[in-house]
Amino acid sequence: MSYAYDDTNIFARILRGEIPNKTVLETDHTLAFHDIRPQAPVHVLVIPKGKYVNFDHFSAEASDEEIADFARTAAEVCRRTGVRPGAGGQGYRTISNAGTHGVQEVPHYHMHILGGRVLGRMLPKIET
Ligand code: 5GP
Repeated sequence: MSYAYDDTNIFARILRGEIPNKTVLETDHTLAFHDIRPQAPVHVLVIPKGKYVNFDHFSAEASDEEIADFARTAAEVCRRTGVRPGAGGQGYRTISNAGTHGVQEVPHYHMHILGGRVLGRMLPKIET
């Protein structure tokens, strides 16, 4: 399986420093920054610095070091933003949209971390 990465996507431009971002945390392999259109009091995007389109691309081709760094950075964002349950926070949700059915807007792998309010059901109930 080959994945086509579009270098003009907005997160690639953020990583190149062409567009500003409100950084929460940065490591050698990962950047976390506030979403420009927050859908909750805490809405942070965590992205790898490598050129990966979505979660399955990242899982298939990123190094163990990149994957571990991504996971630990995301967890550290939960800690720093105060949403970590059991540590004073009230919890959070992580979301990663992929492709057409996932309604992915930006074709660079990212994880949303949402919290700071009760987020409601994961998906609206559909009558069958
Ligand atoms: P997706 O639908 O691809 O999972 O989510 C993309 C997210 O990127 C959206 O929540 C959107 O608000 C956010 N976003 C799009 N453009 C920018 C930008 O230029 N800066 C930041 N910080 N977030 C952006």
